[in-house]
Amino acid sequence: MNAHSSTEGNGVGTLYVVATPIGNLQDMTARAVSVLGRVPVVAAEDTRVSGGLLRHLGIRPRLIASHEHNEHAAAEKIVSILRNGEDVAVISDAGTPGVSDPGAVVVKAVLDAGLTVVPLPGPSAAIAAVSASGFQENSFRFVGFLPPKHGARTAAITLLKEDPALQIIYEAPHRILDCITDLRDVLGTEREVVICRELTKTFETIRRLPLGDAVEWVAGDSNQQRGEFVLVLAGYKAPEKTDDGLPEDAERMLGILLEELPVKQAVGLVMKITGLPRNALYQRALALKEQD
Ligand code: SAM
Repeated sequence: MNAHSSTEGNGVGTLYVVATPIGNLQDMTARAVSVLGRVPVVAAEDTRVSGGLLRHLGIRPRLIASHEHNEHAAAEKIVSILRNGEDVAVISDAGTPGVSDPGAVVVKAVLDAGLTVVPLPGPSAAIAAVSASGFQENSFRFVGFLPPKHGARTAAITLLKEDPALQIIYEAPHRILDCITDLRDVLGTEREVVICRELTKTFETIRRLPLGDAVEWVAGDSNQQRGEFVLVLAGYKAPEKTDDGLPEDAERMLGILLEELPVKQAVGLVMKITGLPRNALYQRALALKEQD
């Protein structure tokens, strides 16, 4: 029995936040089965969806709906059930509640009421995708869903353009091609992405490729526009710098312009294009001239 169970005798119930499978039912943890089998009340995002899972497990708790349209009312109800001494488990349609899913409002209300929240970790599409991406970055940003419309999506992608962390993005099948196209247009064709489709399910597909190739691949195969998607996007890498601390591209540009233009003009143009400081460019230009 869990140390936080109401049966410990403090008279109030515990809220269990329970992760459920994102496709493969065998990913249900033993602890999740045990807690769902024991709590009298389960709060579910869609009671029809979760009813299927609970039937599969042979469990018949009292089900209450807690979704984005009634979460505040559901939270109040759950707090009062807990105060009456009954435990409650909250689950979402798939994966971990509170991760691009309802759950956070209920959890906050329970914490605010001074009651106990116990998380039961388990499947989450985001973490499964990171684990299968092969990137070695130590940090990642959970973006969740980008805005659905082109303009707002482009603006959101621009904001994450220079973040060195991996970016974890959820996307719906009817928008996957537009989303990857906008990612390519803002971040460039070379930035790598891992496209994770239908994780843990029959048509699971995991492919790592540069954004330029990713757009072509998804556009050219309608099967790659079906199902559920997580994108794991490589983080920003600052361009390599020369010994002078100038990006290699800027130095190359300077060299080319110096073949045709006087130092002052070449420096002025590179400064305009790159935004790099005049002084550093000037010093480098003089050194390049001396090498000639
Ligand atoms: N709470 C869930 C979790 O922990 O991953 C996420 C719920 S969110 C409403 C649903 C989105 O998660 C889908 O649109 C998709 O982007 C992603 N997702 C869920 N299951 C997936 C799967 N089996 N394969 C790939 N992506 C999945």
